[in-house]
Amino acid sequence: MSVTVRFAPSPTGRIHIGNARTALFNWLFARKAHGRFVLRFDDTDVERSREEYADAIEADLAWLGIKPDLVVRQSDRFALYGQAATRLKEAGLLYPCYETPEELELRRKVRLSRRLPPVYGREALKLTDEAKAALEAEGRRPHWRFLLPNFDHDPFAPTRTEIHWEDVVRGPQAVDLASMSDPVLVREDGSYLYTLPSVVDDMELGITHIIRGDDHVTNTGAQIALFRALSAEAPAFGHHNLLTTSTGEGLSKRAGALSIASLREEGVEPMAVASLAVLIGTSEAVTACPDMDALAGRFDPASSSRSAARFDPAELQVLSRSLVHAMPYDEAASRLEEMGISGPVAEPFWNAVRGNIETVAQADFWWRVVTEGPEPATLSPEDRDFVAAAFDLLPGEPWDHQTWREWTRRVKEETGRKGRALFQPLRLALTGRESGPELADLLPLLGRERVLARKP
Ligand code: GLU
Repeated sequence: MSVTVRFAPSPTGRIHIGNARTALFNWLFARKAHGRFVLRFDDTDVERSREEYADAIEADLAWLGIKPDLVVRQSDRFALYGQAATRLKEAGLLYPCYETPEELELRRKVRLSRRLPPVYGREALKLTDEAKAALEAEGRRPHWRFLLPNFDHDPFAPTRTEIHWEDVVRGPQAVDLASMSDPVLVREDGSYLYTLPSVVDDMELGITHIIRGDDHVTNTGAQIALFRALSAEAPAFGHHNLLTTSTGEGLSKRAGALSIASLREEGVEPMAVASLAVLIGTSEAVTACPDMDALAGRFDPASSSRSAARFDPAELQVLSRSLVHAMPYDEAASRLEEMGISGPVAEPFWNAVRGNIETVAQADFWWRVVTEGPEPATLSPEDRDFVAAAFDLLPGEPWDHQTWREWTRRVKEETGRKGRALFQPLRLALTGRESGPELADLLPLLGRERVLARKP
């Protein structure tokens, strides 16, 4: 079967760099195997899910370079979950429970005091039909639990039942089903918790590999049991370590911090985000990959460490800057054009300025300096006289890369100035800045007329 993966966010907020790690692990895994990538919106929580978040998540993924082969929404698929729930009920594997949270908490404390594991004791399995009817008559509605296959004959005497899998990221894993409570699959109001819809969709969509954060490792045991209960073979699983801030806090989707949207607005390059999101917390060195193919070449899920990966947003700026400095014109062209930077000089202009900017958007500043002129520079009276004299020595056109050398050689001969005293006032007069792109590159872009207009 060809590899099919999925990224399954809940559309209850914008995605952040930690979510991007999960999306990219899946994307790169599929890409390396020439497989498919499904974007699945886990929007069974109709109160909190919003269409605009789903759209925004799709746009954020597209910006990162992820284009799903298929997009599905769980809210369109309730009928499938209903059918699966019915099958489980008929098989006696999904049973109604009526306890309130307070009752459950009390039982948990009693179990702990008796040195029993604090898991659900399956008391609801003992309810007779009359007892259930009486509870319903009181107005109670059941929630439904999945009966984990962790016993031989007697569900009240669970025995150690290990579920094993070969994790794509972590290697051999085992979870004991006797150490967990029967998971609630359906709430009192009939709505689904995440587990059943997820397993049904993974079956239905032919998902071969589930790659997600290691906060899901224990869920995997119960999910594998659920796949089997629905007569399906469980897919392969991979659980990657999570990202935390440099102070060790988790990244919250709702906090907005480090959202993909805010990084994009700051002008951070998408491949800087992707490179950091994928390579941090692995044995690979974190450097900026210029494109997905290069990143795919360095991606090895098994090289992730087990512990959470702390990351420093300042590192993003460093990676992003290195991408901008090396970015070929063709890659920047459409963005430059949106900023009004086009025409025959756009390419030499880009090549002249890219090494002096942090973000592509900052090219706008230098474009204005070239086309509109700089803010008037403050020159000392001596420097002003020197610059005025130098401007009188400007060579005639056509101008090319040699013009700057030729001109400054003449200025040096005529005025006796050299080094910084020679170059700095000229730079200030031409650009209004003390540092910036090579003047040898800028001069032919400016042309004689625009240079003369800058004469103090
Ligand atoms: N919606 C779930 C989450 O965001 C998906 C988990 C999974 O990949 O199975 O945690």
